[in-house]
Amino acid sequence: MPETDTGYDPSLGRKFIFVTGGVMSGLGKGITAASTGRLLANAGFDVTAVKIDPYLNVDAGTMNPFQHGEVYVLKDGGEVDLDLGNYERFLDIDMTFDHNVTTGKVYQHVIEKERAGDYLGKTVQIIPHITDDIKRRVREAAAGSDVCIVEVGGTVGDIEGMPYLEALRQFAHEQDDEDILFTHVTLVPYSKNGEQKTKPTQHSVKELRSIGLQPDILVGRCSDPLDAETREKIALFCDVPRDAVFSNPDVDDIYHVPLMIEDEGLDEYVMERLDLADEALPKGERNREWRDLVTRDKEGTVKIGLVGKYGLEDAYISIHEALKHAGLEKRVNVERKWIHSENLADGADGALDDMDGIVVPGGFGSRGTEGKIEAIRYARENDVPFLGLCLGFQMAVVEYARNVLGLEGAHSAELDEETPYPVIDLLPEQKDLDDMGGTMRLGTHVTEIEPGTVAHELYEETTCTERHRHRYEVNPDYIDDLEAAGLIFSGISGRRMEILELPDHPYFFGTQFHPEFRSRPTRASPPFVGFLDGVLSGTGGEH
Ligand code: GLN
Repeated sequence: MPETDTGYDPSLGRKFIFVTGGVMSGLGKGITAASTGRLLANAGFDVTAVKIDPYLNVDAGTMNPFQHGEVYVLKDGGEVDLDLGNYERFLDIDMTFDHNVTTGKVYQHVIEKERAGDYLGKTVQIIPHITDDIKRRVREAAAGSDVCIVEVGGTVGDIEGMPYLEALRQFAHEQDDEDILFTHVTLVPYSKNGEQKTKPTQHSVKELRSIGLQPDILVGRCSDPLDAETREKIALFCDVPRDAVFSNPDVDDIYHVPLMIEDEGLDEYVMERLDLADEALPKGERNREWRDLVTRDKEGTVKIGLVGKYGLEDAYISIHEALKHAGLEKRVNVERKWIHSENLADGADGALDDMDGIVVPGGFGSRGTEGKIEAIRYARENDVPFLGLCLGFQMAVVEYARNVLGLEGAHSAELDEETPYPVIDLLPEQKDLDDMGGTMRLGTHVTEIEPGTVAHELYEETTCTERHRHRYEVNPDYIDDLEAAGLIFSGISGRRMEILELPDHPYFFGTQFHPEFRSRPTRASPPFVGFLDGVLSGTGGEH
């Protein structure tokens, strides 16, 4: 093997948990990993995470939510896989773009170095150049943490994942045994006669072992807890101790997963194996707060309509979670119903009648936008609480321009290039761009909030710092007319309108930014809390 030249500081990061998946994707490997992280954080450790996405895209920004679910936005503007959102929510941390390693990023960097002459004279190869770059990225992202969870996307055996598994094998080889844990999450299906089957798990562990990796911990995803006999079999055939096999059965609420794996003793086992047990907070002091939060009693249920074009639950995952967080704070169950915006184009009355509140989320492209505008008109005219996010905010401006200002045909220049009234227009700095990837107005920007407004009441401050992802803005030429007609822009950032609200309405609130990305179970997002307040006042407490 050619000699390696990694250039990294081996002291970066202390302990690492590598998480791989077997049998099939979509098993909830990320939630299992994030839940393990939560328990370690509750035990007093600084936990961070790295998500590896073995695709050739440099980032998730250009990917279709239909296929991949939502594009999550980090504070530094990184457009990443939605799993990073789960880590931020479970661990209550802010991650950076460097915490998402993609094949596109790794290869781009190595090829750029090759062109610059950094490898002069050498043949540039997957091993060691690509694997070294992967190791460097993992170590650097782990800097300063006690435990770094590294989740490898996809399933063991995928060609795309091979360089990563090889890099992690080398990584483990270079580190002390008690610093690394391999956790493999697999599926344990039922046979027709109701038996839990371990063969798929055995096969996927065999696959792992053939590339030199022996899992330390196996987590079996199953609709029910694993039987004693199933655990025994997995232990024997996959060559792990009996107490290293854990169940992770289906639950209704992902925030209960940490409680469940705590009951299984996964956290204790991990801390023992990583030699962290002596440093952990006493058991009684660890998880009470989380348990109290996620199991708190709720009174009643409110029904929220999400008017969007993507039927996939994952496409709006951060909005779903933000509604749940607000529900935890207001102690109410939030039932979310997806309403296909294309079905509302001919009128929203009727279709939305049994909704206690309406959310119009972000999006791109014209499909379904007339339905969104209809839903907003319905909410405005019928005093139904409304929250508009990014495109939802922009469509609220369009609706107001059309139906209150009387500007017939008003629209966003993104969706109708010919509109006579482009009340939403391209940001000036976007005009000369050629590349689509990573070029929107992205990440954190500070918004100045007008005192005495709903926004001020919600944020309790005269600024807020939220995350963005857009190319269009409220056209400054129409702001005076819109305000004269009653619309209030209560938050601005330089020339850009960031928040809108309406007086004399239970709750009519829109944001150009995406508050859902900063919402946490422990810290619900103010616009979402205000939304539920509006909903609860509208239902007269009889929800
Ligand atoms: N398409 C709109 C824009 O680019 C809204 C983007 C969004 O909803 N994230 O401004």
